[in-house]
Amino acid sequence: MPTPISHAAVGLAIGVWTAPAPPDTRVCVLAAACAALPDIDVLWSSGLPHTSPFAHRALTHSILFAVVATIVITSAVFRQNRARLALPLGLALLSHSCLDALSTYSLGIAFLAPFSEHRFRFPWTPLGRPNGMILSQLAVESLLVLVPALLLAWLGWRIRGRSAVPTPSA
Ligand SMILES: [Zn+2]
Repeated sequence: MPTPISHAAVGLAIGVWTAPAPPDTRVCVLAAACAALPDIDVLWSSGLPHTSPFAHRALTHSILFAVVATIVITSAVFRQNRARLALPLGLALLSHSCLDALSTYSLGIAFLAPFSEHRFRFPWTPLGRPNGMILSQLAVESLLVLVPALLLAWLGWRIRGRSAVPTPSA
């Protein structure tokens, strides 16, 4: 299963590339936190049946949660330009469930909770082999998610940070 670090790295890359240029550090860090947020359900989901909307990878991994959390967080943190700043946070929240759906861990993602308890996963599930060793799983995850996300974030920071710097007139 993707670790919180990998989720946050993906959120960071999303923040860097989708926040208004030049990317604001606060927006990017918030996007990283939003990308890790859905796993907050591990605090209360132990022992719950997978059919419960409060089970792991259920309500907090749904599209509805991403929309509501985006509205709440954007309204609470930002005073101006909320519609534009909601984009990186919303995409970061959605990225969590999409990344989880690339893994074989658990029964899948309840994208449509609380309206449906059906669990989804993508046809390609390179993350988390059921009987794989944890170190090899982490290596695969680093190769497919963590390192590319960090490289994309770094590249976006270089390119988009520079793009807003006014060029000296001749
Ligand atoms: Zn998750």
